[in-house]
Amino acid sequence: MPALPTSNRIVLASRPTGKPVSENFRREQEAVRDLAEGEVLLQILYLSLDPYMRGRMDDAKSYAKPVEINGVMEGGTVARVLRTRNAFFAPGDIVLSHSGWQSHAISNGSDLRKLDPNQAPLTTALGVLGMTGFTAYAGLRNIGKPKVGETVVVAAASGAVGSAVGQIARIFGARAVGIAGGREKCDYVRDELGFDAAIDHRSRDFATDLAAACSNGIDVYFENVGGDVWSAVYPLLNDFARVPVCGLIAHYNENRPAADGYDQLPAVMRSILRKSLTIRGFIQREFADQRPDFYREAGAWISEGRLKYREDIVEGLENAPDAFIGLLEGRNFGKLIVHVAS
Ligand code: NAP
Repeated sequence: MPALPTSNRIVLASRPTGKPVSENFRREQEAVRDLAEGEVLLQILYLSLDPYMRGRMDDAKSYAKPVEINGVMEGGTVARVLRTRNAFFAPGDIVLSHSGWQSHAISNGSDLRKLDPNQAPLTTALGVLGMTGFTAYAGLRNIGKPKVGETVVVAAASGAVGSAVGQIARIFGARAVGIAGGREKCDYVRDELGFDAAIDHRSRDFATDLAAACSNGIDVYFENVGGDVWSAVYPLLNDFARVPVCGLIAHYNENRPAADGYDQLPAVMRSILRKSLTIRGFIQREFADQRPDFYREAGAWISEGRLKYREDIVEGLENAPDAFIGLLEGRNFGKLIVHVAS
């Protein structure tokens, strides 16, 4: 049997103040230990980079525990079973795992899901057929509930969640308006993904352009961003509009609330009351029992060409910190994934 490998890993070196910087991460190596009964040794092939990881870098109370200082950064992964002392897994099996930013990991098997490499490209298990695709599906199906002819607006529309939101909204018979940063992303959202309109949030005319694209108001706003985008959206919400609050990426680097500036809360609360809005936060795993429906429906939509996706693949685990920093600035174009090993 070949010698046990050495694992390369990226750990949290320090907690960021505001935007993360490369010094907040450290590369380390660790010898992989022998397996105990029931365990498998995984070689990580792909690592998903996601905005929620910014929250894990802070020592703040949230729906999940923070990463410890000197702990391996957390993350969803696709991996190959290298060695096994677990009867359910054979060497060469490909699995979905949550092994984090490292080249090798040991699992007791309870968190692994076998993937069929012949069914779909492996990377899709981290994106359109994985956590981010399911987030779009669950938020729309359970909270947004778009009806035929209604207008659904989503920001970060070229990204992993947003791209699926707009396309699924159209499959449900709604009009989809995407908000994205810059001309190239807007062209992609409208021309490749088939959204009815795409608006550039970096343009000076953003609020006017959005209002023009939503001349009948907004019935569902799938909130991925917050910040200035929310400010432009909420005056356009129709009576009984639904707002699945999925993410607030514009605020993830804030360490404290803004000390000055106009406080929107009273105006927002007035709108909620006056327009009978439903504003409902969610974390996708709340709807985990709907995953079998999702795999079936999304798989069919992809093969029919109705659900398209784009992946932004970065080579090498060592480039994960820089790619992650870029994700929070809109540098990614599509689902951000690190190719760790072939
Ligand atoms: P993504 O869209 O692939 O990438 C993030 C995008 O956010 C960037 O490319 C950028 O796109 C946009 N962005 C960043 N800062 C912004 C700002 N200040 N204003 C406007 N847009 C900004 O990421 P994703 O994985 O699909 O995640 C999208 C959102 O969903 C995030 O908020 C994430 O936390 C949330 N999420 C929630 C759940 C859940 O269970 N609730 C699950 C997954 C993801 P542009 O260049 O187009 O601006």
